Amino acid sequence: MVLEAKCPECSRRAEMDVDTQEINCRFCGFHAQYDEYLEIMKGRAEVMADDFLATSDKKPF
Ligand SMILES: [Zn+2]
Repeated sequence: MVLEAKCPECSRRAEMDVDTQEINCRFCGFHAQYDEYLEIMKGRAEVMADDFLATSDKKPF
């Protein structure tokens, strides 16, 4: 069985094999175990939050 997962590299639709717990993206070739994938996505969310804060700081009020 295969589920859809968002690819952290290209933001397109990657596939997660439920049996092997592997994420594969056919668009950019991203490949990771589910544990790794979660860590990467967690890291991305933090980077995005940092970017958001940095951007809002620069806004003139
Ligand atoms: Zn990808």
